[in-house]
Amino acid sequence: MRIDILTLFPEMLEPALRIGILGRAIAKDILTVNLVNPRDFAHDRHRTVDDAPYGGGAGMVMTCPPVFEAVESLISKNSLEHVVLLSPRGRKLDQNLVREMAGWKDMVLLCARYEGMDERIAETLVTEEISIGDYVLSGGEAAALVLVEAVSRMAPGVVGNWESVDTDSFYHGILGYPQYTRPPVFRGKEVPRVLLEGNHEAIRKYRRREALRATWIRRPELLTNLSKEDLELLAEIGVHLPPSNKENLP
Ligand code: SAH
Repeated sequence: MRIDILTLFPEMLEPALRIGILGRAIAKDILTVNLVNPRDFAHDRHRTVDDAPYGGGAGMVMTCPPVFEAVESLISKNSLEHVVLLSPRGRKLDQNLVREMAGWKDMVLLCARYEGMDERIAETLVTEEISIGDYVLSGGEAAALVLVEAVSRMAPGVVGNWESVDTDSFYHGILGYPQYTRPPVFRGKEVPRVLLEGNHEAIRKYRRREALRATWIRRPELLTNLSKEDLELLAEIGVHLPPSNKENLP
């Protein structure tokens, strides 16, 4: 997978791309992440990339020419099939969208700054607008990093042990189960006994039940399409849902 990120502040993303699972995937060429600065495509002496908004109002707006030229410079490297603008007005990111994006061969992520980009960029260059949540950041870089971390986790070969993706929250539509490690007793708090006893089937059931419990307590609206075993495990913790449980949730 290839991801080109258009940003006025590549120095904000560079160190993050060297760290952890993401850093390793990039080092192993499983993933290519390339940073492009639209300022390098501004032709005036001050390398201007923004201007005052037509119609007045506060702040500055990123202008069309350097953004268009920066994206066009990628033509031989990126199919430009997916040009994503990070924007609080966009479709809200969730694991379904992440999974969809993990199937893309390449994408360009546009990070805006100031009051955003000239609308003609969204109208002509951009194929999708994505928001990471209903709040406003000062720039798209943090959002692009969220997207790259989430999408790359799902891309084949990025996370060495697929099981750790398979057990992530949301991967199977519900939240993840709680994890424990040594020591077995810490300040009087014990690790659940079943995890120490080595009965794999009992551990699987315990984990599924605890994932269901966490989801029931925190995000009950996620409990749809449950299997017969799920309904039984929920019954064990006193939650009795009928087989078609969609309309009975709080
Ligand atoms: N005035 C704009 C916000 C500008 S914030 C508005 O109200 O829509 C500057 C830039 O930060 C945005 O253009 C976008 O690229 C990025 N940004 C801010 N909040 C974001 C969010 N929730 N998700 C994704 N990108 C965001």
